[in-house]
Amino acid sequence: MPSFYRTQTLKIEAQPIFSEAHAASAALWNGCCFEMDMYQWQRGYPHAHRDFYFGKDCEGWIDRKLSHPLLHSQSRQAVRERYFKSWLSYSAVKKSGGVRKPKPPNKRKNYMTTRWKKSAIRFVEGSLFGKRVELSMAQGQPKIEIPLPNNFDMSKAEHIATIDLCYNYGHWTLHFSYVYHTETPETGKEVVGVDIGEIHPIVSHDGQDTHIYNGRYIRSLYRYRNKVLADFSQTMSRCKRHSKRWWRLTRRKWKRIRKIDNQIKDALHKQTTKFVKYCQAKGIGTIILGDLTGIRNNIDYGKKTNQKLHQWAFGKIAELITYKAKALGIKVKVIDESYTSQTCPKCGNRKKPNNRNYTCKCGFQYHRDGVGAINIREKYLGHFGVPVVAEMGFPRMTPPLGFRLEVPVASS
Ligand SMILES: [Zn+2]
Repeated sequence: MPSFYRTQTLKIEAQPIFSEAHAASAALWNGCCFEMDMYQWQRGYPHAHRDFYFGKDCEGWIDRKLSHPLLHSQSRQAVRERYFKSWLSYSAVKKSGGVRKPKPPNKRKNYMTTRWKKSAIRFVEGSLFGKRVELSMAQGQPKIEIPLPNNFDMSKAEHIATIDLCYNYGHWTLHFSYVYHTETPETGKEVVGVDIGEIHPIVSHDGQDTHIYNGRYIRSLYRYRNKVLADFSQTMSRCKRHSKRWWRLTRRKWKRIRKIDNQIKDALHKQTTKFVKYCQAKGIGTIILGDLTGIRNNIDYGKKTNQKLHQWAFGKIAELITYKAKALGIKVKVIDESYTSQTCPKCGNRKKPNNRNYTCKCGFQYHRDGVGAINIREKYLGHFGVPVVAEMGFPRMTPPLGFRLEVPVASS
């Protein structure tokens, strides 16, 4: 039975202790950075942040040095764990060479999300004061009590692994993460290649059909977001920084942006859910994604395309597809996608497409992103660049999803 973590969020009322906890977590993070420097310096690595190997010894050493009068010992440990996790991903990124100048995690923080682990969490139900969750702090410190709404589903409470206290654009939220079990699904045999394109969020090819998921709505949201930001920064440039008016505008700005971000998130969820459901219906067992690491860092496409590319939620889409597919028992594999958008699937000739259609001298014509999806699939199956003669369906554009909201399109 496959199981994985899921997260549920809950908006809560602010308490003064929250920002103290966040400052405490940040202090511990800064402590980690300092102790890491000390650890390396004592071992003769004066500027060791580049190529330093560390192991359990280093973790234990740092753990012993850290203490805080406010936070629970496990919340303290969680900071240290996150610190080492980002070291690991730093060295992974450095090894793969996907990012031009990766930075080790040594940046000081002022605030940091606080995490509680299982033994510091207690749910209270049916008491005089109503349903609530108690989060333990360090010994001798009062617990944080947070009331929960009555309709908040607690049936999975015994599986809750961690609770994160987050601050997002002026609101406090609790993120409950819990272990989620699914039935063992039957796994399909088919393979689908996916190109996360710069125009369309998902273009898939399953050997016969190509599906293009329309990206117009999401693109318009990103454009609208840019416009809102530009408008506000123009207005705000005329008033004094940190003045009353400046703060009012800042609050208003983030309110608008938060709303747009939620719309983007919602649209990405709908597109990915639709795609994964389609895969399930088609009996697909493996989804192949092109590896996108470094696409935003290594190549300079010019100012305008750069902005477009930077904003595409590449990683987000891949992440959503991965976890949704996993829940249905579909494997997700990532392969190197170099040359997949340039090679002709029919004769193997290499040519850069210069408009929305890919045309080859052998007479092959296809939608440009569709070619990428075909080749990503072929690459996984091991016949990439090998001339094949196969019948292929026409690329189909799926209609924009049933969005509940009117599409706000920025003029210009
Ligand atoms: Zn060709």
